[in-house]
Amino acid sequence: MKNKKNKLLKEALLISSLILTSCGNKSSVDYAVPTPVFEEIIDNTFEENETTIEVVETPVEEVIEEEPVIPENEHVDLLMIGDVLVHKPVYTSGIKEDGTLNYDHLFMNIQEDLNDAEIKIVNQETILGGSELGFSSYPCFNSPQEIGISEVNAGFNYILHATNHAMDKGFKAIDNTINFWNNYPEITMLGLNTSDEEQEVIHTYTQNGLTIALLNYTYGTNGIPLPSDKPYLVNLLDEEKVTRDILKAKEIADFVIVLPHWGTEYRYVPDSLQEKYTKLFSDLGVDLVIGTHPHVLENIEVITNDEGHEMLVYYSLGNYVSGQLAKDRVVGGMAKVSIEKDYETNETFITEYELDPIITQQGEYTTYKLEDYNDTLASENNIKKQSGCSNFDMNYINNLCTEILGEDFDKQEEKVRVKLK
Ligand SMILES: [Zn+2]
Repeated sequence: MKNKKNKLLKEALLISSLILTSCGNKSSVDYAVPTPVFEEIIDNTFEENETTIEVVETPVEEVIEEEPVIPENEHVDLLMIGDVLVHKPVYTSGIKEDGTLNYDHLFMNIQEDLNDAEIKIVNQETILGGSELGFSSYPCFNSPQEIGISEVNAGFNYILHATNHAMDKGFKAIDNTINFWNNYPEITMLGLNTSDEEQEVIHTYTQNGLTIALLNYTYGTNGIPLPSDKPYLVNLLDEEKVTRDILKAKEIADFVIVLPHWGTEYRYVPDSLQEKYTKLFSDLGVDLVIGTHPHVLENIEVITNDEGHEMLVYYSLGNYVSGQLAKDRVVGGMAKVSIEKDYETNETFITEYELDPIITQQGEYTTYKLEDYNDTLASENNIKKQSGCSNFDMNYINNLCTEILGEDFDKQEEKVRVKLK
């Protein structure tokens, strides 16, 4: 970030210095290289205003003589959470006394983590059709747009909408959702499209010389077909389309991420569809895969293809928040991945990855990191009142994380943290 600011500052100063010297003191132009474009701007804009501009000449020359900034390795931190699955108790948790809606409480306990990352991704499982269509819960969800506002407030900049619930309320709800996100041009919504052309766009995040592509698909839309005249509406996990997108992404980006909505609900290990697509992603040279949909955590793997290329896969992050009434469905994960580009070798790779287990506190409807959780909070979690959930405590959560995440789950640190380089 610092390099970028320096560069912009220098460019701004260079431009102003050209303007200044040309207007005030034409004999000192020799240290800079004015282009015809600059000269044109100067002639048209600044001829009549010589006196005001002359004053700041000296400090500008000093800055220009500074040593050029040597680029260091570029570094990007990514954070992602799983399903925001808005059952009735979740949307009612945001109704204020005056009738307004606010969902900032859902994200307040992970705010510090969000502040530390540049790419912040949330899987918005349910459609944000808004109050116009009436809010609804399982099986055909429609959620308040104020959930999206709170995601923006928390700092998320990538919102995933390719989910099996995208078509729950038909085209109108999707249209409302797209229009809602259009109010936030700084945020990239993935998974829903308004045209064939838009569906072909590869979305990227660029920080100086490091470009990262992000792709999002769902295995299906719960049997509700896409409108026949709008087959582009939701990104579906289609082998041909996915292959085409990944190859395009590989051309324009240093690092390719696929965010598939896939798998079997409540299963802790990948199913055959996940295995099939994981192989395809790996063969095509994808760098990172973070999956959602099973509503429980699944394992993490590093897969090496025949050419020796490594791909990190989080098969499922589970729920971030939901009203689901089973104890393993309130335990999800927050993925954190550090990505680095070495400007000397032009290679981009993962230096470190992490999974912080997170717990949905039902009743209150907020989500805690496991490292901030304890038996007192567990005893206050409404999930404990559900049948088969009376043993929900720190011991249960730690054992579940060990069962799913294996030996990489560090019981002391209460997370997975693996250094790759
Ligand atoms: Zn789903």
